[in-house]
Amino acid sequence: MVIHSPLPDIKIPETGIIQFLFDNNPHYIPQNRKVLIDAFTGESLTYGKLKDNILRFAATLQDKFDFKHGDVVAIYSPNQIDYSVLLLGTIAAGGSATPANPAYTPKELAYQMEMTGAKILIAHPSNVELALIAADMVSLPKERIFVFGGSAINGVLPYSQVFFNERRASPIELTAEETKDSVAYLCFSSGTTGKLSIYVFGETGRYNHSNPLDAIHSNMTSNVMQFHTLDHAFINADKDTALGVLPFYHMFALSVLLHSMLYMGIPLYVMPQFDLVRFCKTVQEQKITFSALVPPIILLLAKNPVVDQYDITSLKLAICGAAPLGKELSHQVRKRIPTMIVKQGYGLTETSPCAIIEPTDRVIDAGSVGVLMSSMTAKIVDEEGKEVATGERGELWLKGPNIMKFSHSYIDLKGYINNPEQTAGCIDEDGYFHSGDVAVQDENGHFFIVDRIKELIKYKGFQVPPAELEAILVNSPIVADCAVIGVYDADQATELPRGYITLNPDIPESEDTANTIKKFVSDQVVHYKQLRSIRFIKEVPKSPAGKILRKVLREMAAEEEKQL
Ligand code: AMP
Repeated sequence: MVIHSPLPDIKIPETGIIQFLFDNNPHYIPQNRKVLIDAFTGESLTYGKLKDNILRFAATLQDKFDFKHGDVVAIYSPNQIDYSVLLLGTIAAGGSATPANPAYTPKELAYQMEMTGAKILIAHPSNVELALIAADMVSLPKERIFVFGGSAINGVLPYSQVFFNERRASPIELTAEETKDSVAYLCFSSGTTGKLSIYVFGETGRYNHSNPLDAIHSNMTSNVMQFHTLDHAFINADKDTALGVLPFYHMFALSVLLHSMLYMGIPLYVMPQFDLVRFCKTVQEQKITFSALVPPIILLLAKNPVVDQYDITSLKLAICGAAPLGKELSHQVRKRIPTMIVKQGYGLTETSPCAIIEPTDRVIDAGSVGVLMSSMTAKIVDEEGKEVATGERGELWLKGPNIMKFSHSYIDLKGYINNPEQTAGCIDEDGYFHSGDVAVQDENGHFFIVDRIKELIKYKGFQVPPAELEAILVNSPIVADCAVIGVYDADQATELPRGYITLNPDIPESEDTANTIKKFVSDQVVHYKQLRSIRFIKEVPKSPAGKILRKVLREMAAEEEKQL
């Protein structure tokens, strides 16, 4: 059975992102409304100033850097109020932006730069040194590296000094057809194979470029409209304020916070990183009403005593996504902050990102992710791809305007650069994206995500591709073989990456050895990809074809947990 969204269809926007957010935006947003405010310093950007800066940035890209359609700007920074200037300025100039995790190692950043072919890199004062190393690895000249803020660092100029000239660009206009083809964002994700991929988002669609993948303009505008259809009745831009604590480089924040809040003209308080005290203080002082959160933050709100010292009752709506929000935790947070509706959303970078969400006006069983977003259809299928009966589990397949753009002809033309089989395998000829997640739909039409068949670990909402860690581990001189899985830890409301290691002969199975292996990995990856535990194993379980049997390892972990 094909499952249809119970919500009204959206009209798919026919303009590019810039016109959608500014010139064609049906909401009246005063030019002097502060739409982006730094939660720490109080610095702000008004709606009018934001647009002006976007157009000046776009003009300099064109005039000084000969920026053309298809060119890419990489952003390597924690959340900043002017993050949107760079994202949207790049798009206004006809290019695509690739936001990178600010904690990436130079090697990880260099990989993203290489995969996307970024021509310009804008870093933050805190990581500009690492940016220089990465730029060197991909031979990007220093004159194409800039930094946020007002001062030069090590000869790297602030972008604001170079980019804000007199000329304002006319934002590139896209036809309705072009919005479905033009790449807006290139976001990294690990895809369904657990290898690092990049997802490129267009204004309406998205493509998976080999092990990177990209997304187009109409994907982005569609997801904003889907969200807006669901929640506009609960939002009043004259009164509401939002808190942007999730990292802007991730599709969840990019769409739900940066795009959706701007579309509705809701002031967004920007936090460069999460800090519980700052979070509570900002909510109390600024009377924040809305936020997008992840389960580990919900856990703190439900349990941490600090929360009692602040009045956070202004917070009336929080969307929790990126990882599962358990039933228990959902009850606990609702009990502690009864004035706040916490609704769960489910999606992927590939679905730009929201695909399933709890409606705000209906209480749904805790643990459910809700109903399909507008204009979407879904199937839950067994291993043969046959749809299962209501109440039975199977892989979730999704279709709709927010799914990364896919057409077989397009893939032939541009395709997944390094991995055409993977791309072709994750969206079928009927346009269904195969999520790699296992879902159940109950008789009320509510979805539950119950398992994952793809090779992906989520640490506090961040993607940890096991294959990437395994590729690092096998280079250790003491490791003979290895496999990495995620083990759920209820105390932290997250999965934790665990390595199962077969050692080379004569290496002792000791705590020292485990620490050496952990360090070998942590020296090479961003903090959230670190191995949190190690287990030694005589042999890694594999299928006759040599595929790691992660299910067997997961069962071993569950057995170990039971015995504690
Ligand atoms: P990302 O592309 O980083 O957003 O990761 C997408 C993956 O996160 C999905 O395929 C799911 O495995 C997981 N995920 C996201 N939201 C939820 C949720 N509400 N419940 C369970 N898993 C989720």
